[in-house]
Amino acid sequence: MKNKKILIIHTGGTIGMVRTESGYAPQTGALMNELRQIRDLTSPDLPDWDIVEFDPLLDSTNVRYEQWNSIAETIADNYCSYDGFVVLHGTDTLAYSASALSFMLEGLDKPVVFTGSQIPLCELRSDGRDNLITAMMVAAEGRVREVTLYFGGSLMRGNRAIKYSADRITAFTSPNYPVLASAGISIEYTGQEMNTNVKHPLHSNTLNVIRMRPCRIGVIKIVPGIQFEIFEPIRFEELDGLILESFGKGNIPQYDPALTRLISEASKSGTIVTVCTQCTAGSISLGIYKAGSALVEAGAVSGGNMTTEAALAKLTYLLSKELPREEIRRLMQVDLRGELTT
Ligand code: ASP
Repeated sequence: MKNKKILIIHTGGTIGMVRTESGYAPQTGALMNELRQIRDLTSPDLPDWDIVEFDPLLDSTNVRYEQWNSIAETIADNYCSYDGFVVLHGTDTLAYSASALSFMLEGLDKPVVFTGSQIPLCELRSDGRDNLITAMMVAAEGRVREVTLYFGGSLMRGNRAIKYSADRITAFTSPNYPVLASAGISIEYTGQEMNTNVKHPLHSNTLNVIRMRPCRIGVIKIVPGIQFEIFEPIRFEELDGLILESFGKGNIPQYDPALTRLISEASKSGTIVTVCTQCTAGSISLGIYKAGSALVEAGAVSGGNMTTEAALAKLTYLLSKELPREEIRRLMQVDLRGELTT
């Protein structure tokens, strides 16, 4: 693979963390020190690589739209010089960032593989070495030319993945879409990658980065006995977007009309209300039950089988493009980057 060249973008996260008195934390230069000790990184079976390290490095709990913009711009600035990109990122918000980048990189035609680890590279049982090496191979191979997430043996579409385990080495899963590749003795691709010949809406022929801007998006999880009056002080109509994590197929309790009243007022003032299911897998189908019909009447749109992570990233992207609110409502229900099965 020595004729291929990839760029590693280190944003922070456990993979490059060191022990401190207050627990693991990122430290400038620590990852490079670890990488120098991994002899396999000079193997002829790996591509040539360069690395850029963000300053500051972050625990991904602190990642916001600014870091999404920096990742996207680093890829755009180096797009012609590399065959693919590996983004090292903390696992806590990895699925959000991978989702965000899948939308921001319009016209992407090279691999962008997000990865990280549950155990730092400086520790004995680190999963970082395999995650990094396999992600580098996938990025260089160039078969899957979209934003993906490689972790614990599975390559997933970035905007389909969720972190489902705080403990397991296989921390991520893709509940509503098949894995794109499994890395066992060899890397087996499943043929489920995006067909770049199919032109999705809002995709372009050349790379075009949409910068994210700060958006006021709230997320509410519906629970049994939820008292909607506690939300009354929230000025829903001042939100750009609201994601409701409903029960099952899009159901909310009906004992109190306060929620639908709030949603209806917010929708009328332009807030995009999107319903996602709090189930790990499956899809919203608004109106299949009476308990969900009220949401449609109040102006909410279905998030289909999008993850909350993908819905949040998509909403931020569409709002950042400053499209008319009605168009955003429509596009939330359209498959733009393989994030949704319609
Ligand atoms: N808190 C860490 C982070 O998200 C967790 C990890 O990387 O695994 O940066």
